[in-house]
Amino acid sequence: MNLFDVYPINDIAITKASGSRVWDDKGQEYLDLYGGHAVISIGHTHPHWVKRIEEQLEKIAFYSNSVRIPLQTELAEKLGKISGKDDYQLFLCNSGAEANENALKLASFHNGRKKVVAFNKAFHGRTSLAVAVTDNKNYVAPVNETDNVTFLPFNDEAALEAHFAANGNEISSVIIEGIQGVGGINVATESFLQKIRSLCDQYGAVYIADSVQCGYGRTGKFFSHDYAGVNADIYSMAKGIGNGFPLAAIIVAPHIKPKHFQLGTTFGGNHVACAAALAVLEVMEKEQLINNAHETGDYLAGELKKIGDIENVRGRGLMIGFDVPDAIKDLKKNLLWKHKIFTGEAKPNAIRLLPSLALTKADADIFLEAVKQEITALKG
Ligand code: PMP
Repeated sequence: MNLFDVYPINDIAITKASGSRVWDDKGQEYLDLYGGHAVISIGHTHPHWVKRIEEQLEKIAFYSNSVRIPLQTELAEKLGKISGKDDYQLFLCNSGAEANENALKLASFHNGRKKVVAFNKAFHGRTSLAVAVTDNKNYVAPVNETDNVTFLPFNDEAALEAHFAANGNEISSVIIEGIQGVGGINVATESFLQKIRSLCDQYGAVYIADSVQCGYGRTGKFFSHDYAGVNADIYSMAKGIGNGFPLAAIIVAPHIKPKHFQLGTTFGGNHVACAAALAVLEVMEKEQLINNAHETGDYLAGELKKIGDIENVRGRGLMIGFDVPDAIKDLKKNLLWKHKIFTGEAKPNAIRLLPSLALTKADADIFLEAVKQEITALKG
């Protein structure tokens, strides 16, 4: 049997990793500024995370959600404390798409409405409703097509206001990434997020903050929406929550009360996933990684801004994007193949950095030096 031909993007077999380094099957080392697409939060194979998972595996790996799983309660308490959302309710699932699917569904159960507002260039996942609010027609199969979703321009308060004025009483939810990831690292303005909050309040719509990529401390605050001082009604999370162990979540404001059987999952919140997630939060706290994301991110973005040939350095914390003009269009490829540094891309011509939140200044410097060298080489 062959693998289904949608991956891989790079012909490299990664077989080992530690911190911000990965190795291929031939022993070649790489610096990882992509974090496996924002998944690696505390660093690859962090010893505390490995130990927590190993110890859990020896006790119990799984039992269904038909029983109480004390690790889930422990996780809810710790997440509430670190995120500042003590009074929210936690539902655990398995992927970002599933988290968004549940968020949109729960909003609709809550207010009984069908219409959803999403934004141009949004990415929310590949399952039926998540892909329907994703602004890329290539991902939407005929079976996923729906009239219930309207895409509005990102950061356009007038368009949002006009749409609510005409349709407000039918809108179930607004779903937004505080910083669009796949769409190219586009930061929502604080006033745009505040406008969403006030319109949702006025019309009884649910504010869903897709924090799968921009959440969990990556931007230097727990949620990127914290910069705007707004509370979303539902936050979806995945990626960094397990540091590579599959796990996702939504947290739900107290005024939204789920009823039994509205949401459900077999694997969500299993014992090992919870142990992994607790280990992540313990390390984030002990090593002050949100603070590191802030400081190292500011440093890295600040130094990138000093490099004349790249453009439009943007983002927050360790979620950084910059444009690569045509004259140096091979920068990303050459960083990988010549300098052995993984970065991410944002089409058509941008580079995305999503490293571990434990990235050191020394590793940031290695990257910066490689970028400078390569730009000189490319410009000949
Ligand atoms: N939302 C955002 C903002 C994402 O970046 C992604 C993944 N790239 C998803 C949702 C979907 O997550 P998953 O692949 O875990 O389903």
